[in-house]
Amino acid sequence: MAPHTKSRTAAAGKTDSSPKAGNDGKAMSKNSEQQSGTQHMGTELEKFFLEALKDIYWAEKHLTKALPKMAKAATTEELQEAFEGHLMQTEEHVNRLEQVFQVLGHKAQAKKCDAMEGLLKEADSMIDETEDGTITRDVALIMAAQKVEHYEIATYGGLVTLAGTYNLSEAADLLQQTLDEEKETDENLTYIAENHVNHDAGKEGEDDEA
Ligand code: FE
Ligand code: FE
Repeated sequence: MAPHTKSRTAAAGKTDSSPKAGNDGKAMSKNSEQQSGTQHMGTELEKFFLEALKDIYWAEKHLTKALPKMAKAATTEELQEAFEGHLMQTEEHVNRLEQVFQVLGHKAQAKKCDAMEGLLKEADSMIDETEDGTITRDVALIMAAQKVEHYEIATYGGLVTLAGTYNLSEAADLLQQTLDEEKETDENLTYIAENHVNHDAGKEGEDDEA
């Protein structure tokens, strides 16, 4: 009777070496559940999953406030439109997360995401450190935005994998839709940088010198 003494190594997947063959067999049930397709998260893992959802929920909500600022700060129309378009998607990301909470039978709740807070602070200082109306401003904004997208891609990628592993197919589908949009946004930002921004930024300042 020691339900909470499960070792870290056992939690990391080394269930073969676990001596816990007796009891109710819960710790050892992973393989058989996998075979029958009724695998479910243990309490600890479910808690972790929920905390991760709260974290990205906070992040998405804050992005709905940051993206209009970034759109306003952008110099080129292409980048402004990209931020405005992604704002609409981000509002949908918030909705989808609320659906995921609902599917899991939990109330949607946000918990401060330190990483996103830092990334958005960085975006703010990028705006402060570059001049209004310059292409260099857009280079900086694209870099800041892509760091945000990469953080989201990493987060949703992990959540999709976890939900998929435990047959939470409805949650996995919702999270996958958002993951796809984050990836598209990242690619679109690369396209804008390559085709509209980086080259022109290189010419910036040349007029001053002349
Ligand atoms: Fe998002
Ligand atoms: Fe995003």
